[in-house]
Amino acid sequence: MSRPNLIGMLPSELEDLAVELGASRYRGRQLATWLYRKGVVTLSAMTDLPQDFRAALAERTEIALPEVDRVTPSQDGSRKLVFRLADEGRVSAVIMPDDERITLCLSTQVGCGYGCTFCLTGTMGLERNLTAAEIVGQLLVANAQLEAGQRVTHLVFMGMGEPLANLAALVQAIRIMIDARLGLGYSPRRITVSTVGLVPGMERLGRENLKVNLAVSLHATTDEVRGRLMPVNRSWNLATLMDAVRRYPLAPRQRVFFEYVLLEGVNDAPEDAQRLARLLRGIRAKVNLIPFNDWENSTFRRPPLPRILAFQSTLLEAGITTTVRWSKGEDIGAACGQLREPIPA
Ligand code: SAH
Ligand code: SF4
Repeated sequence: MSRPNLIGMLPSELEDLAVELGASRYRGRQLATWLYRKGVVTLSAMTDLPQDFRAALAERTEIALPEVDRVTPSQDGSRKLVFRLADEGRVSAVIMPDDERITLCLSTQVGCGYGCTFCLTGTMGLERNLTAAEIVGQLLVANAQLEAGQRVTHLVFMGMGEPLANLAALVQAIRIMIDARLGLGYSPRRITVSTVGLVPGMERLGRENLKVNLAVSLHATTDEVRGRLMPVNRSWNLATLMDAVRRYPLAPRQRVFFEYVLLEGVNDAPEDAQRLARLLRGIRAKVNLIPFNDWENSTFRRPPLPRILAFQSTLLEAGITTTVRWSKGEDIGAACGQLREPIPA
């Protein structure tokens, strides 16, 4: 049996563990502070923990982070971290600095089983879910990669995988990230979970009441087109999806984000923009248009700039906040939908 990993345990679980090992809950709280607040992952450096407690931890548990396989810097300042997992699986996270803001795009699965036709990750199929430790680990490693005094400020679950298909680990990881006292202390408003549109998962995430932002990958305004682009639409069609969005609990002033990848000749017509505006009527929405990021052998193309801007204008005129997300890291295969690491034999 492998020893349990301290990374990925909730602060309350670390307190329980301390008691189990004959120490007090207070020692568990100190341990959580070292791991999550200070980002210290070696027991010998945890100088205020008693020797015998550290010895028990060393014997019975481990502190394991995903190993950095390589770091690829982009010309635009972003950096892709490729992680080698214990079973040799690979996932990546992307650090995207923008003035004061440092956003980290996190993965939740090795591969993805939803097979959206415009997404390179989707061509891999699903290998496995990441553990909470592997999700939190990406953040701890990314923070350690930054200069002293800097840390990631915003988190988006938009890397490899479908977060809501790995809900238990996702929720555990987010709880550690938002714990203000003994965890990483991120505001839930700075965390965004993107989903392909898994309705039961959206309902369960809503019930967890974490107050994180929800982003829904919409990408089309008719079931016909959405079904062609996203096989998941056959399980939960647009009407069902939009109902679930309406029921998603929002804090005052919080909005639901909608992602819409623009594919030339597929979903970028003026009528699409008008239908999208109608679909979002009455919803506190913000739209992110993502011009398609190309990958080898894909059959889609990015629309020309005037077409992108015209699409945006139609939505703006309908009173919908709409931004165009010019993806970061396109030159290093780190842009939205470009994440794919070779699966070792
Ligand atoms: N599985 C989740 C989160 C990961 S993908 C989801 O689908 O929402 C993050 C975003 O990138 C999604 O909106 C996805 O549809 C989009 N995307 C995928 N492939 C893309 C590509 N080639 N170009 C632009 N955006 C893409
Ligand atoms: Fe999976 Fe999201 Fe890619 Fe679809 S867009 S295949 S759900 S990662």
